[in-house]
Amino acid sequence: MRFETKAIHVGEEPDHREGANGDVVLPIHLSSTFAWKGINEKTNGNMYSRLSNPTRDALEKKLAALENAKYGMAFSSGMSAITTILLSILKSGDHVVAFDDLYGGTKGLFDQIISDGLNIEFTYVDATNPKNIEKAIKKNTKLLWLETPTNPLMKICDISGAAEIAHKHKMLVVVDNTFASPYLQQPLSLGSDIVLHSTTKYINGHSDSIGGAIMLSDDKIYERIRFVQGEAGTMLSPFDCFLVMRGIKTLAIRMREHEKNAARIVSYLEKNPRIKTIFYPGLKSHPQHELAKKQMAGFGGMLSFELNGDIDDVNRFLRTLKLFSFAVSLGGVESLIEHPASMTHGQVLKEDREKLGISDTLIRMSVGIENVEDLISDLDRALSGI
Ligand SMILES: *Cc1c(COP(=O)(O)O)cnc(C)c1O
Repeated sequence: MRFETKAIHVGEEPDHREGANGDVVLPIHLSSTFAWKGINEKTNGNMYSRLSNPTRDALEKKLAALENAKYGMAFSSGMSAITTILLSILKSGDHVVAFDDLYGGTKGLFDQIISDGLNIEFTYVDATNPKNIEKAIKKNTKLLWLETPTNPLMKICDISGAAEIAHKHKMLVVVDNTFASPYLQQPLSLGSDIVLHSTTKYINGHSDSIGGAIMLSDDKIYERIRFVQGEAGTMLSPFDCFLVMRGIKTLAIRMREHEKNAARIVSYLEKNPRIKTIFYPGLKSHPQHELAKKQMAGFGGMLSFELNGDIDDVNRFLRTLKLFSFAVSLGGVESLIEHPASMTHGQVLKEDREKLGISDTLIRMSVGIENVEDLISDLDRALSGI
């Protein structure tokens, strides 16, 4: 089966067993506990919904299929998926090498909770050059943590090159694949050991559920993460599992539209004199454009740009837009726009922000799947007003 077909059918084969109804869409199993027939006689293997639940099982099969993985797991948020990976794999005294351009919440969790609380050391490197990864590795390095493309500057790192280095040093490689979605990039096939997503974004795609996912194929790592998820209780609720499953069915078609609209908006912005710089992997001027072309099946619907002007001009522009909601998050059907310096990266010190290249006039856009002519008219109106 190919991607679109798996996204629709896996996990939701109609049940024709005696007493079942042949539902085409899997019912939501809200029960927190499941009755046994007798000692060691579980019905369909379930006991308690923190440990397993039929609606979650179905979603997890679908999630695994999207990344061609043996296992999929659904979590209560992207952050809880990340926390569960760290708790499953790291021990006090371990060292982690991570991309220096990580999602703000991930960086906060590493630096302000895991690092002191569990005595884990983190080294951040510019992973766009794999040599920087190798230089940072120590005797006690267990994990390489990557994100590509990154937020908000759309930097790309070479997953297979990085994985080769990491595996030479017996490290595990985790890739946060949220920005690309499994439709555009499949890190397990490029050598990563664990893939994670905030399903809140493209996978659910409708901005109405917070959730996370892990996909992997190694039996031992899976068993460990599954055990920690059960004990720590970081799983996704049945109702949200239903929403995510429903969202996944249109993931491919949504990603194609996101990308088509993003490409049109990029070419509009390129011609507008009020735009200073554009960060989009699909542009020939993007420093890792060739790598993106090789590693991804497309360039996606996320982009950032800098305005010519100051922060007041940025504010005027954002306030004038009608179709782009001024909000964090991404990957939904509706277009969103945000200001990294005050929102997603508001916690980062100004000097660190500037070192990363996140200026006060940088704006990040999650291009939705509205009619692109309407989106461009909205942008044009707001840009001519500044
Ligand atoms: C949103 C996001 C997360 C965190 O996910 P939540 O669902 O908000 O907990 C992690 N990584 C990336 C790249 C994200 O965009």
